[in-house]
Amino acid sequence: MQIIDCHNHPDWQGQDSEAFIREMDRLGIDQCWMQSWEAPLDDFDPAYLNRTCPLGPEYPLPFSRVLHYAERHPDRFIPGYCPDPRRPDAIARLEAAVSIYGVKICGEWKLRMLFDNPDSIQLFRRAGELGLPVVIHLDYPLPRQQVWPRPNYWYGGSMDAFERALAACPDTLFLGHAPGFWAHMTDDGQHETCSYPKGAVTPGGRIERMLERYPNLYCDLSGGSGFNALNRDHGNARRFLTLWQDRVLYGRDDVGNIHMPLIDSLGLADSVREKIYAGNARRLLRQI
Ligand SMILES: [Zn+2]
Repeated sequence: MQIIDCHNHPDWQGQDSEAFIREMDRLGIDQCWMQSWEAPLDDFDPAYLNRTCPLGPEYPLPFSRVLHYAERHPDRFIPGYCPDPRRPDAIARLEAAVSIYGVKICGEWKLRMLFDNPDSIQLFRRAGELGLPVVIHLDYPLPRQQVWPRPNYWYGGSMDAFERALAACPDTLFLGHAPGFWAHMTDDGQHETCSYPKGAVTPGGRIERMLERYPNLYCDLSGGSGFNALNRDHGNARRFLTLWQDRVLYGRDDVGNIHMPLIDSLGLADSVREKIYAGNARRLLRQI
């Protein structure tokens, strides 16, 4: 069975391209969507600089490093790039990344601005015209998590703001991702207070209602948040992945391998696993 990791980053946790390839080989991962995360210094916790490329100037995960990986292993890494939409040259940058460097994904979008900021909407629409799915990171401004440098780090604003972007950009495909997205697996209100909610899931939460309403919405299982959304209720995970088998993609967003053992333990049909592990990713990039 082919396996595509739909969400990862260069140099994360100090890995270089060759160590990354060795881990992919060990885990049986064929391809990886390698994505940038470029944001103003004030938009992210400086602690990230201990775990990412410290060279800049495009922090914390520069597109130039994505290209380094993709150029060394063009058959294994599919490059993704998301410029900060507030830059006046954002759309030109995205267009050049596609035409010159073969970028196939607009991601990762992880910024302290609302998803439906007009500059962002313009970028999302252009991504749709260029055939790029958009990978977004949603985090709520949770109750004070730390003292310094900010009480918390929110990105995108809220599921309401994400829903407005989905509605405003019907011709753009989006992958929902991160704690603020996956906390909506069920309507228990925990998204307002914690990143990794626990407890049994009542089916039909906000994610599912949005999947029904917006055919341009897909789900990215990567990170601790996607893992937690499945792991908190295995019966619901089996139901959710089977029902939405055409709309969910496997990814890691980290080194290591927490998702595969969980997905493989759920008793899913092989046809469902094949879509989640690779088929949906190929379809989003029109590789089928
Ligand atoms: Zn990421």
